[in-house]
Amino acid sequence: MAWPCDPENIYISHFPETREIWSYGSGYGGNALLGKKCFALRIASTMAKRDGWMAEHMLIMAVTSPENERKYIAAAFPSSCGKTNMAMMIPSLPGWKIETIGDDIAWLRVGDDGRLYAINPEAGYFGVAPGTSNTTNKNALETLRENCIFTNVAETMDGDVWWRNLTDEPPEKLIDWRGNEWLADKDSETLPAHPNSRFTAPAKQSPSYSGDADNPDGVPISAILFGGRRTDAVPLVTQAKDWNHGVFLGAIMSSETTAAAAGQVGNVRFDPFAMLPFTGYNMGDYISHWLEMGEKGDSDKMPKLFWVNWFRKDENGDYIWPGFGENNRVLKWIFELDDIDKEADEATATEMQNETPIGSLPKSSSLDCEGLNGLDISPLIEFDGESWKQEIPKIKEHFTSLGERLPKEMWEHLDALEAELSQN
Ligand code: GDP
Ligand code: MN
Repeated sequence: MAWPCDPENIYISHFPETREIWSYGSGYGGNALLGKKCFALRIASTMAKRDGWMAEHMLIMAVTSPENERKYIAAAFPSSCGKTNMAMMIPSLPGWKIETIGDDIAWLRVGDDGRLYAINPEAGYFGVAPGTSNTTNKNALETLRENCIFTNVAETMDGDVWWRNLTDEPPEKLIDWRGNEWLADKDSETLPAHPNSRFTAPAKQSPSYSGDADNPDGVPISAILFGGRRTDAVPLVTQAKDWNHGVFLGAIMSSETTAAAAGQVGNVRFDPFAMLPFTGYNMGDYISHWLEMGEKGDSDKMPKLFWVNWFRKDENGDYIWPGFGENNRVLKWIFELDDIDKEADEATATEMQNETPIGSLPKSSSLDCEGLNGLDISPLIEFDGESWKQEIPKIKEHFTSLGERLPKEMWEHLDALEAELSQN
């Protein structure tokens, strides 16, 4: 069945005063499923600003250690930077368990105990089909066994679906996403499934579904990760100095466009908190709201803030970090740090981290790299002052573009960073 589109006349309008959304002409998922980005992020962010909570572009996961300790972690990555994969990840280290509470949107509030609690306002997943396979995201594939709607995928002769990587070789014959016959030996130049073809399925069908997702009180968050695609400068993981410094890291968060031609420096785009396309009000006011939320909570109990980057590349353009299930190793480091913080064991915390102008980085001895075939992680966790000096003018331009309402404190953090860099 075809979706009614009018590509020449697309209007997606939001009216926060009346909480109305008018969407005309677009079949793009975020514009067609109005409960998702339009309501649960854009309209909800205006309600959250007014009423003192947060609507964020974040996954929520439950992480259980081999010692059976359980913590909840949220992560804000821009679109196509790994939220769904992380939320459903199959951990690589023995004894660790990951459960999914949400893969895209989190609503957060400060509880009576001064901790930050999160719920997932969605009941299902809406993911990109191509690339989803038993090797990259087994849990997602299992979720799609039944009660699932597909858009713009290819159809097999027996009425099943197909997309790139679902099987190693495509079937000989398919009906492509436009409804035309597609033959593997003749039409291999064209894509039978659209690159942005999608699936939607109930969250409960995922083998990694967490019962905590149904808890109306939400789950208390121990750490929030910010992240994007950066081939250089941004380390594997950086801990912010405190909440407000973390807000600064969230505000300077950036990601590279994926279509950048080989050899060309990636086109870095700033996307504060992965919310630039989704904040329903002024971006400077939004960043102030993050500072206000920090004051609402108990500073010892609010989540620790981190900036992660799975996408550093070597001089051949290959990813250095194996990513996916191996991101478990970074979660383990964050997990242990949180325990040590709680015990106020500063000596051990110092043993685990190096202080740098952008925050604390792991010492190589503190990051579990056993079984990574001797991978040299030093380029991932060394502070690269020269690259950061080059970031400064770009951040200034970005802050200027956010305008007058960007909190002064963000400029103060930037000045402090610049001053520290010039001493090295
Ligand atoms: P989302 O849009 O933020 O939910 O992102 P997805 O989880 O759908 O992933 C987007 C793309 O990033 C997919 O092509 C994934 O295969 C890729 N990806 C996800 N996690 C990792 C990772 O840890 N390392 C690498 N190299 N790629 C990843
Ligand atoms: Mn996703």
